[in-house]
Amino acid sequence: MFDNLQERLGKVFEGLTKRGALTEEDVDAALREVRVALLEADVALPVVKQFIADVRERAVGQEVLRSVTPGQQVVKVVNDRLVEMLGGEQSEITLKTEPPTPIMLVGLQGSGKTTTTGKLAKRLKEKQKKRVLMASLDVQRPAAQDQLKQLGWQVGVDTLDNVPGEPPKAIAKRALQQATLGGYDVVLLDTAGRLAIDDELMREVAEIRDAAQPTESLLVCDAMTGQDAVTTAERFRDEVGLTGVVLTRVDGDARGGAALSMRQVTGKPIKLIGTGEKLEELEPFYPDRIANRILGMGDVVSLVEKAQESIEEEDAQKLEKKLQKGRFDLDDMAQQYKQLQKMGGMSQLMNMMPGMGKMGKQLQNAKFDEKALNRQLAIISSMTKDERKRPELIKASRKQRIAKGSGMTVQDVNKLLKQHAEAQKMMKRVKKMGKKGLQRHGMP
Ligand code: GDP
Repeated sequence: MFDNLQERLGKVFEGLTKRGALTEEDVDAALREVRVALLEADVALPVVKQFIADVRERAVGQEVLRSVTPGQQVVKVVNDRLVEMLGGEQSEITLKTEPPTPIMLVGLQGSGKTTTTGKLAKRLKEKQKKRVLMASLDVQRPAAQDQLKQLGWQVGVDTLDNVPGEPPKAIAKRALQQATLGGYDVVLLDTAGRLAIDDELMREVAEIRDAAQPTESLLVCDAMTGQDAVTTAERFRDEVGLTGVVLTRVDGDARGGAALSMRQVTGKPIKLIGTGEKLEELEPFYPDRIANRILGMGDVVSLVEKAQESIEEEDAQKLEKKLQKGRFDLDDMAQQYKQLQKMGGMSQLMNMMPGMGKMGKQLQNAKFDEKALNRQLAIISSMTKDERKRPELIKASRKQRIAKGSGMTVQDVNKLLKQHAEAQKMMKRVKKMGKKGLQRHGMP
């Protein structure tokens, strides 16, 4: 997968990273080639447009780091945006705390749905040590039911016996009952597919959904159908609801358009990818690893990450030195707000981590009001460099200009200046107390 894209982007960025200095034209020329490469990879046009615009904005707006070349920094920006485009974090299959978890697989005929059901059963059984029951809900094609049974034998997973004439939603209910009684952890429901989406297919899937209330509704689609796979996903999402996508045949897909557009267009994560016909050939979808594979520039990315970290470290040290001298201008204040912003992001992150939710809440309660921080930062960034260094310059007309520039009122500007004056006063007091005094007052 992504062979062509990888080759093209490799060439673009190899040239870019070697140069000592980059002009805006260099970046634009590179981005034009990235645009063509993405379009040739069959990525949806709106996704490409947004991607290029975002990369351009971030590449131009970013601080230049020492110790890496501007080209390397651009690679990092492209990498980060690519990871976002692919969905950011890896998205796992959710299992209920109280088994059995019903998982419904839907999709068009020939997409690889039944094979994927078998592969997923094997994965859940072997990697997660789950007891799995599979059920075929395809009453149109008895061959499909036999196929699932065969797969069940191969992977050592039970399949529900079929009762002739039983409608799909009744099979779904019976599968769940049997799973509950039999102590299974997961029930995989392999629904029927059709050659194309039609009302009957959607009605049937909706009925099964209502009967089984699946924790996961996964669309299985063929990566080789490119943007058609994305359109199919949109239809299923709108008409029956989806929790994620399994992309099959990525092993034969040299372009990668479906994988690249799926998340952005449908808002649904790719949870798994099928990479071959064999039953073990089903893998989780890791956006960062995929981005790395596409760009082939993992070394550059980690180099820039390290440079960014060391700059942050230096900034913190500089601020500490200034504080020791009792100096604290509006740039310093902006820097502190940015730190707080990061902590705000951290509190959200912590909320998602098991056992850390409480700490995240505490951080949030500590009034890390994102919007307020953004407003403060907007005001400061509407000031000139001189004004930030010497706030006493800011008189009535300048206040009006700053308020206008940041979309705030003069009162807002006054409030910020007052806060700064108070902070500065405190810094002076801190300086008088000296380092020992600080420690006595419980500060580091
Ligand atoms: P269904 O009609 O959607 O249930 O499709 P099947 O599960 O019967 O799969 C159709 C064909 O695609 C079979 O020959 C599978 O072996 C093949 N297939 C499924 N997934 C993959 C995959 O990830 N890679 C490759 N190369 N073939 C696959």
